[in-house]
Amino acid sequence: MSILPAMLAIQAKETRYNGNRFRSRLEARWAVFFDALGIKYWYEYQDYGSGKYRYLPDFYLPECKTWVEIKPFWPTNLECEKAIRLCVTEQQFVIILAGNPWPEEYHTLFYHPISYTPEEFVDHLIRWERIESLSKNPTPGKTVLHFRAAYQVVQMNDCTPLVEYIADIGRGFMCRKVEIDQCPECQRVGPFDSRIYDPQQLCYGCLKAYVTPRLKGAFTRARQARFEHGERGAP
Ligand SMILES: [Zn+2]
Repeated sequence: MSILPAMLAIQAKETRYNGNRFRSRLEARWAVFFDALGIKYWYEYQDYGSGKYRYLPDFYLPECKTWVEIKPFWPTNLECEKAIRLCVTEQQFVIILAGNPWPEEYHTLFYHPISYTPEEFVDHLIRWERIESLSKNPTPGKTVLHFRAAYQVVQMNDCTPLVEYIADIGRGFMCRKVEIDQCPECQRVGPFDSRIYDPQQLCYGCLKAYVTPRLKGAFTRARQARFEHGERGAP
């Protein structure tokens, strides 16, 4: 027996914690992480879509109006597409957390809605993405820009959701690979980026957010959680 199926079997083990029956230990660990930080969540709150795009997101974080999907591995194109559809239809943030709750053991993909005209979007790129100019004039009607690096924009005809930075002004979303950090001043936890949030909503400390000792402590609780205690769920 290879190791991989054994790992998948562990991942899929139903786990009771804090009154919820999580479909996997991994989801329960992320719930421990949210609890350790006092982040309110609703598990499997509502499903969306239909057919192959039917989708029951793992968590809804009501205080920040954000959907969270937990994946053991980097998401597939279909999983990304489901996140995009949820983001643009609900006009809310969608975060895919792929991997274990521990620094450098997970990836964070952050989908957020945008509404720009092509001209406004070029202005946005120059102001907030620190792109001095678009070296090649955007082709009229082509509205998908793929970011390969902070200073480089590659224009493509289609949308491949696996690229780390995507802006699709036609469909009205952006996706970035981000980090979960904590602001040392206001204690907010999340993907801090004044290019995503209204800068006026961020304190000065938010721009210097990092893995604080409290955030590290939440990761440690999630990593060390034992679930033998059933629904009481004391980790
Ligand atoms: Zn702050």
